[in-house]
Amino acid sequence: MRFPAEFTARTETTERIPVGVSSCLLGEPVRYDGGHKHDRYVTGVLGRYFEYVPWCPEALAGLGVPRPPIRLVGDPGAPRAVRVADASTDVTDALLSVADRVAGEMGALRGYIFKRGSPSCGMARVKVYDAPGKSPRMGQGVFARTVMRAHPLLPCEEEGRLNDAPLRESFVERVFAYDRWLRAMAHGFAPGRLVAFHTEHKFLLLAHSEVHYRAAGRLVADAGRSDPTRLEREYLSTFMEGMRRRTTRRRHSNVLQHLAGFLKRSIDEGDRRALADIIDEYRSGAVPLVVPIRFLRHHFRRAPDRYVEMQHYLAPYPDDLGLRNHL
Ligand code: SF4
Repeated sequence: MRFPAEFTARTETTERIPVGVSSCLLGEPVRYDGGHKHDRYVTGVLGRYFEYVPWCPEALAGLGVPRPPIRLVGDPGAPRAVRVADASTDVTDALLSVADRVAGEMGALRGYIFKRGSPSCGMARVKVYDAPGKSPRMGQGVFARTVMRAHPLLPCEEEGRLNDAPLRESFVERVFAYDRWLRAMAHGFAPGRLVAFHTEHKFLLLAHSEVHYRAAGRLVADAGRSDPTRLEREYLSTFMEGMRRRTTRRRHSNVLQHLAGFLKRSIDEGDRRALADIIDEYRSGAVPLVVPIRFLRHHFRRAPDRYVEMQHYLAPYPDDLGLRNHL
C-alpha cells in the first residue's frame, strides 16, 4: 500500500491497519439465512488501508449456517438473545462466551466495524422486545456490548453509520490516530514518547475539543512527576475521548487560523488575505474543509515550518479516502 506523496499523511507505516469486522460485511455467507451483507465501502475503499480480522459470533457460538433467526428480549440494559420462533431457546450464554474469548484476542486491533441492527453485532439501536403488543425498545447486540465494554477506547462504528460523512471521517481519523499511538508506544511507554505524540496531535485534538486538549496538555506537563502506568492510561483515555467529540466548522476554523498564523512572515499581504477569505468561506459553509487545507499545504510547501510539519492535522489519513471533501 502507498500513501499519496503530496504532503504525505504522517502515518509512519505502509502496512494495513488491523480492524475487526462482522464477517458478513466482507461477503462471507454466515447470516442466519445463509446469505451475507457485503459492504462495498468497507471492503473496497477502507479495505485499501484496513487489514480486516472478521468474526461471526453466531457462527462461532455453534448456532449453524443457516440457523433459526434470533432477537433480543427483556431488559434493554441486559437483554437476552432468544430464537424468534421459540423464546425458550436462549443463546445468550453461548454468545457471551464467544464475546469474552474474542475480546481477549483483540489487543492488536485499532478499530471495529459492526453490522447494524444485529442482535449479536449491533452497536446501538437494536430492537429489544419486551411484551407482546408493545413497541420494541432499543439496546445493544450481545456480542458488540461485551466487546465495547472490554475495549472502551477502541474506535467502533457500524457499516450503516459510515454513510454519514462526519461519522465516517471521525471513525477513520480515530483508527489512524489510535494506530499511531500503539506504534509510538510499541517499545514501551516513556514520557519522551508521550511528549512527541502529544506535540504531533495538538491541532488534531484541538479541532475536536479544547477541554480535552487542555487536559491532555496538563497531563503531559506533569509527565516527569507522574506514575507512568497511570499517566499512560489517563492520557490515552483523555485523548481518545476528546477525539470522539464531534468537530464543528467553528472549531476547525480556529485551528486553520492558528496554522495560518505560522505563515505571517512568509507570505505577502495578498496571499494572507486570500487565505483568510478561504477560511471564512469554510466557516460559512461555502466550501468543504479540504479547500483551506489544500491552501495551507500549498503555502507550507513553499515556506516549510518544522512545528507545523510535525502536525497530523494537515494529513491525518491518506488523501485518497476523500473524507474532508464532505466536511
Ligand atoms: S451480523 Fe454478526 S452474527 Fe450476524 S451474520 Fe453478521 S457477523 Fe454473524
